[in-house]
Amino acid sequence: MKIFHEGEGGKAFCSHCNDVVRTTYARRDMPFSDGRGVARNILVGVCDRCGKPAAIPAQSTPAIAKARKAVAHPIEANLPAIYIDVLDHAVQRIDGQASTDFRRALLTYFIHKAAMDVRAASILRLSHRKAIERFPEERGGARRRISMKVPSRVTEDFRRLESSTELNTTELLKSVVFLIHQRVLEDPRPRLIGELQAISAIWA
Ligand SMILES: [Zn+2]
Repeated sequence: MKIFHEGEGGKAFCSHCNDVVRTTYARRDMPFSDGRGVARNILVGVCDRCGKPAAIPAQSTPAIAKARKAVAHPIEANLPAIYIDVLDHAVQRIDGQASTDFRRALLTYFIHKAAMDVRAASILRLSHRKAIERFPEERGGARRRISMKVPSRVTEDFRRLESSTELNTTELLKSVVFLIHQRVLEDPRPRLIGELQAISAIWA
């Protein structure tokens, strides 16, 4: 594989000029095609005619992949209000002084724990069924929006759980919140509560 350097010349097809053009290698910030984020200082072959990136050398691929991974995509859903109430109640139960932002830590903890469990899919599907039974949904019932920025590995855990449970974001969140309902509010295990209280104490 040839390694390119800044300032080096080359030739490539420029889709903007619709022609084979002379290029000069330079570092540019490359926005992702879906518009969600940017890979910074990527070495690309810039078209000498129009100034747009015309070629991305193979050596730049790992840097782009790394930047892609680092972009944290928020987990967002519009849940029946009861689920947000349950979450806030659980937060209060764990630590009376915790802010509502501790919701994010609580959900992250349960998502991460679930992702490490080989039985995750069946546990979460069962929890989802129980949630729907326990909190029947009425047409036009109040809903509240939840949006959480979490580390990309947690988003990856969540996406994996979505596919293994065949539940979408909203339904999977209901299932996770119902687990929290059971394990924090209905049948609290001292060890779990202690662990969550420790997390709350260091959560700024
Ligand atoms: Zn061009």
